[in-house]
Amino acid sequence: MTRKIAILGATGSVGTSTLDLVERHRDRFEVVAVTAATNAEGLANIVRRTGAKLAVIADRSRLKHLQDFLADADCRVAAGDEALVEAASGEADVVVGAIVGCAGLKPVMAAVEAGKTVALANKEALVTAGEIMTRAAQAGGATLLPVDSEHNAIFQCLAGSRSKDVSKIILTASGGPFRTATADFIAQATPAQAVAHPNWSMGAKISVDSATLMNKGLELIEAHYLFAAPSEQLEVVIHPQSVVHSMVEFIDGSVLAQLGSPDMRIPIAYALSWPERIDTPAQRLDLAAIARLDFEAPDLTRFPALRLAREALDAGGAAPIVLNAANEVAVAGFLAGRSRFPEIVHAVEQALERSDFAPPQSIGDVLEIDRATRSQVSALMAEACS
Ligand code: NAD
Ligand code: MG
Repeated sequence: MTRKIAILGATGSVGTSTLDLVERHRDRFEVVAVTAATNAEGLANIVRRTGAKLAVIADRSRLKHLQDFLADADCRVAAGDEALVEAASGEADVVVGAIVGCAGLKPVMAAVEAGKTVALANKEALVTAGEIMTRAAQAGGATLLPVDSEHNAIFQCLAGSRSKDVSKIILTASGGPFRTATADFIAQATPAQAVAHPNWSMGAKISVDSATLMNKGLELIEAHYLFAAPSEQLEVVIHPQSVVHSMVEFIDGSVLAQLGSPDMRIPIAYALSWPERIDTPAQRLDLAAIARLDFEAPDLTRFPALRLAREALDAGGAAPIVLNAANEVAVAGFLAGRSRFPEIVHAVEQALERSDFAPPQSIGDVLEIDRATRSQVSALMAEACS
């Protein structure tokens, strides 16, 4: 039987890797729905390649373009939030959540509520609504499968084990492009330097998050919700080669690790085909050629984002939403050349200090805290620039 796949964020980095795998395994997968933010032409090309029956563009002003590109195709086209939700909750068996940012939350939640298998790359959705989402998944029979390479590695290491036998979850981090840079260099970093990741090729936002180490902070929170792991059980170790994707330590002192070349097609393939495995074109590891694997403790002085994320995880309630929203606004400002690199962490810290939101009870509450934080941070950053 083929699995019907919906790809939310099909034009992005994770979306493109997903399409590559699906096209190599046409006997197993059928793409039924694809979505994008604004790139109507890119989305139309994906429809032609996959034969998807539903194409959704988030930006309504691009709908006419999408209709024109797909005038002769046997594919329904739609735009806006409700249409994204429809793509996520329609006929797909597996929904790939590959939208970047909190913008992916509503469609991912719709997939969860519809009881889908959700292959989740969109970590911001879990960071902002982890408790509500995992509760809804349990109640509605949805399965959340992590695509993020660290969490996919942990998921693989945990297979068949009892949670009471786990003593530690160790997330590896490459350290990003500024791992060995001085604080002075980091303070002057340009967007081009920040997105030049040493090991992974990814979208711009997550690349900047990797440079501040906020990505690892978001991943701590993601791991907390995915694996019901308390903060004290979660550790981060810097591993510059990005070969060990994460580890689990058990109470007897055993440590299991998942290794592989840094190619997102490996974790995506596992999430698409779980509990089976499928062939991928990822380069095989040549350990003799790699020769050594290094590990070091993270430096929280040069990379304070990791400390802020840990504090937000420990505070709980609205704090992870505020952390994420402030970071999204500040990263966008930095990428647009409106602010300097250290201002990202500064904006997040300020937003957390000012936050007095009550803990969210619903997705509506999450979206309201997200909206309010974005407008506060935008105003503060505009003030700082003027
Ligand atoms: P990307 O920027 O390359 O792609 C993002 C996709 O989301 C695009 O298809 C875009 O059209 C769509 N999108 C953006 N804003 C949207 C909006 N407001 N509404 C609807 N759609 C929107 O990002 P990416 O690197 O592929 O990352 C996607 C997600 O996966 C992120 O949450 C990221 O943290 C996570 N992730 C990515 C990688 C990676 O290797 N790229 C690895 C692990 C986790
Ligand atoms: Mg990751």
